[in-house]
Amino acid sequence: MNDWAYLRPLLKSNQSKIVLLVLDGLGGMPMGPAGPTELEYANTPVMDALAADGTLGQTIPVAPGIAPGSGPAHLALFGYDPLRYTVGRGALAAAGVGLDLRPGDVVARGNFATLDEEGRIVDRRAGRISTEEAAPLVERLAQIQIPGVEITVRPVREYRFVIRLRGENLSPDLEDTDPQQTGVPPKPVQARSPEAEATARLLNQWIAAAREALADHPKANGVLLRGFSTDPQLPRFGDWFGLRAVAIAVYPMYKGVARLVGMDVLDFEGDTPADEFAAAGRVWNDYDFFFIHIKKTDSKGEDGDFYGKAKVIEQVDQALPALLKLEPKVLIITGDHSTPARLRSHSWHPVPFLLWAPDTARSDNQYRFGENACVQGGLGTFPAVQTMPLALAHAQRLKKFGA
Ligand code: ZN
Repeated sequence: MNDWAYLRPLLKSNQSKIVLLVLDGLGGMPMGPAGPTELEYANTPVMDALAADGTLGQTIPVAPGIAPGSGPAHLALFGYDPLRYTVGRGALAAAGVGLDLRPGDVVARGNFATLDEEGRIVDRRAGRISTEEAAPLVERLAQIQIPGVEITVRPVREYRFVIRLRGENLSPDLEDTDPQQTGVPPKPVQARSPEAEATARLLNQWIAAAREALADHPKANGVLLRGFSTDPQLPRFGDWFGLRAVAIAVYPMYKGVARLVGMDVLDFEGDTPADEFAAAGRVWNDYDFFFIHIKKTDSKGEDGDFYGKAKVIEQVDQALPALLKLEPKVLIITGDHSTPARLRSHSWHPVPFLLWAPDTARSDNQYRFGENACVQGGLGTFPAVQTMPLALAHAQRLKKFGA
């Protein structure tokens, strides 16, 4: 499958580097009827200078009015129509921790949870136990064997883990066991179709064994499973766009989505924007395309922390000179979706987009990077899935279409 078949004959390679810098949940809103958004409030002299030289616009992540998860929103930025390529949370989580997926595998995200004596959920996240506390518990789960299927359990972060089933005739067509509320017991795994009945039975056996294995733990004495999915078998990004691509991200899910499209994922020390840019510098000659992900803009937005989100944007701005020193041919600074602190959640609002390409970008009389400036910007409002052809064009990696 090649959604970009029309690009293939146009692709040409050169030495130019493309950086896609994603500030997760970048788009925001004013806290009141007037006033700046988080991005407009933040003091960002470097991004503003890039905006003055470059071109602004805004993207629609999935479709107007749709507030996307980060998975589909990133797929769109990578050129994958998110309505066509759906990836389950389980598959993203598995890829994020480097757990390989084969066709036929079933994976799910797991949470440790606290259950009371009646088996009702008291805390869906087991008091947010630490990664260190969770490690031996994951170890206990990994010991559980269920005849007829190979089960692998891996820790993610804190109270989260991933479970993978490998065997014959498995199906991910299953309902989540997390009822999304406390005071009720976890739901059993239920099949949505007859093909998934056997898988549901295996998983319910596993959950019963997990309850036994965890019974003596004061907080993490239960498990919740959700996002049952399988290998989405996505076409490879590198084949579509003729790029050697690497992902630089701190959080597992974003490494996961990059891995699913076939990008390399870089291991590096540290978790600040400066650490991420330094990591890019170390492999600068090995790749053509650098996806760099900043998570905390989204986390602060979800916390309703307007100033905290602005501060993260400022940290990125302060670190940017190190990235610019590498001399990318194209630098795109955008978000995967909006996460306005005012709404404390992902939203459907268009996402600010900054395209800086010193040799080719047309200036559009915008001198600040912010939502209002982006509305006035030269790129207008466009679907996020069109980002990659723009990036390739400005990297001068596309030949003329037709004679
Ligand atoms: Zn996101």
